[in-house]
Amino acid sequence: MKIKHIFFDLDRTLWDFETNSHNTLEELFSTFHLKEKGIPNADKFIQIYKVRNEKLWELYRAGKISQIDLRRERFQRTLADFGIRDFALAEAIGEQYISICPKKNQLLPSAIEVLEYLSKKYKLHIITNGFHKVQHIKLKYSNLTKYFDAIITSEKVGVMKPDTKIFDFALETANAKSSESVYVGDDLKVDIIGCQNCGIDGIYFNPNSEKHTEKVAFEISCLSQLKEIF
Ligand SMILES: [Mg+2]
Repeated sequence: MKIKHIFFDLDRTLWDFETNSHNTLEELFSTFHLKEKGIPNADKFIQIYKVRNEKLWELYRAGKISQIDLRRERFQRTLADFGIRDFALAEAIGEQYISICPKKNQLLPSAIEVLEYLSKKYKLHIITNGFHKVQHIKLKYSNLTKYFDAIITSEKVGVMKPDTKIFDFALETANAKSSESVYVGDDLKVDIIGCQNCGIDGIYFNPNSEKHTEKVAFEISCLSQLKEIF
C-alpha cells in the first residue's frame, strides 16, 4: 500500500494550543487589570478559565449551546467565580481573546522541519474541529498555510470529529482514497478512533506517552519521528 496523503489535526498536534492560549490569557490578565479587580494572580485566572471553557466546550460539542454562547459565557463564568459580575468586561475580554490567541505562533517541536520534509513527498491536508476563520488565522500567522492542500474545518462541514462524515468529506475534497491516507492527531478518541472508523490509518501523537489500549497504526511522542516512518 502506497501512502499519498497525510492528514493532520491542527490544535495540540501542530499548533501549540496550550502555550498560545496560556500566553494570551496572561496578557489579558494584565491588560484588563484583573488583579486590581480581585483575581489573585494570572495562574489562578487561567486555572478557572480552563475548567469553565472545557465544560462549555463539552456542551458545544454536544450541540447544546452555540458558538456565541460559548464565547460569551466562558469569561462571564470565570469572572463570576471570583465574584466579578461585569458582563461588559467579560465580553471585552472574550473579544480580545479571540482576536489575539489565533495570531500566536508557537508550534509543537519539529513541526516546520517535518512539514518541509513531508510536503516534498506527500500531499498534506488539515482536518480540524474549530471555527473556520479562527483556524485559518492560526495557519496564516504560524506560516503553515503553504504546506496544505485541503483545509477542512468542522464548522464548514457541519459535524465534528470523530463523526465519520468529516473524514469522508476530507477524503473527497482531497481526492484521496482512505487506503492511501493516514491521519496524525493527538486525541485518541476524536482523531484516531475517528479516522480508523473511516478506514484511514491513525498515527497517534502522544507526547506525554499516556497509557491506552487502543490499536493504532503508529504511535509517536515527537513529530520528528514522522521522518522515520515516511
Ligand atoms: Mg488536537
